[in-house]
Amino acid sequence: NEEEIRCVGCGAIIQTTEKEAVGYTPTSALEKGLEKGEVYCQRCFRLRHYNEIQDVQLTDDDFLKLLNELGSEDALIVNVVDIFDFNGSLIPGLHRFVGKNPVLLVGNKVDLLPKSLKRGKMTQWMRERAHEEGLRPEDVLLTSAMIPAEMEVLLDTIEKHRKGRNVFVVGVTNVGKSTLINQIIKSTAGVQDLITTSQFPGTTLDRIEIPLDDGKFLIDTPGIIHRHQMAHVLGDKDLKLIAPKKEIKPIVHQLNEGQTLFFGGVARFDHLKGGRHSFTCFTSNDLLIHRTKLEKADELYQKQVGKLLQPPREDEVADFPKLVRFEFSVKEKSDIVFAGLGWVTVNEPGCVVAGWAPKGIDVLIRKSLI
Ligand code: GDP
Repeated sequence: NEEEIRCVGCGAIIQTTEKEAVGYTPTSALEKGLEKGEVYCQRCFRLRHYNEIQDVQLTDDDFLKLLNELGSEDALIVNVVDIFDFNGSLIPGLHRFVGKNPVLLVGNKVDLLPKSLKRGKMTQWMRERAHEEGLRPEDVLLTSAMIPAEMEVLLDTIEKHRKGRNVFVVGVTNVGKSTLINQIIKSTAGVQDLITTSQFPGTTLDRIEIPLDDGKFLIDTPGIIHRHQMAHVLGDKDLKLIAPKKEIKPIVHQLNEGQTLFFGGVARFDHLKGGRHSFTCFTSNDLLIHRTKLEKADELYQKQVGKLLQPPREDEVADFPKLVRFEFSVKEKSDIVFAGLGWVTVNEPGCVVAGWAPKGIDVLIRKSLI
């Protein structure tokens, strides 16, 4: 049958081959749908039946069209980022696409941060990074899709800044945008009210609109995978393992110079120069930290990646990118940040260290958050 079948929810052309793409439906569900005379894509099906929004992956081209849409409407843009993967969450060139529209920058997953951490320092760091990218957010806020009270503050803040306008929520995959939108739906409209999906003009993308009190909408947009995300080099299972799931319990290591820490097989930290120092690791407590001598580190990694040093798992090693080294001379109390993974705080300045991450993943230094 050559004829196109469209989803009755969002109008996307139904396809059964690309799981992550727009319009995907498993073949069995397509057959059932055809019997009933109404076919939903998996995304709309889940939305209707489980009150749950899934993210779809887009081509860069479709994503660009979506971004262009952002500037052509008078709206508040809410950009959701993952505070554990700030650089990986940034949308390149977003500041150009939003035009004159105000941006609210929302750092999600704050529930994972140790309580000892000062929120103000984190938001200030986010603001500085945003400025470096040319983005001038009107406000910066931390939130957690897991904590209702945080979500209330988020909704109040959106209300304060939107001034009667529509709201577009944008973000790359894995920042928690779907979880967050689902919470907003629960606390505002309820799923029955939001089957007003239509497409972004000129694209195959669907938009989900959540009605607001004044006839305006909060619009969820599909996300894309960013090339510099851990999501790009690790499979789903590994990603779950390295992403912290509950409040991080920092782990302190006293290292002499010439000592190395491995974070599974996904990252490495070398203490190169400066005598005995203390370093605090803020990474998922499920990720094994293995300590060794710097002079043995290369050899250990070669032998043990996929074995003692996991993830990656053994069958993934062949496709896993090489670790790339970044060296830092630390002049003040600083964090060495591994995008998507967490960071190591260098508690006393005056040393030289190196951070290693899979090729394509950033390692950077920032003033310590604590
Ligand atoms: P999306 O791709 O941006 O839509 O991200 P998802 O909503 O699918 O979330 C990605 C992962 O982050 C999932 O494992 C979520 O459970 C988790 N997640 C989302 N929001 C939060 C949050 O506020 N705190 C924590 N700890 N995890 C979150």
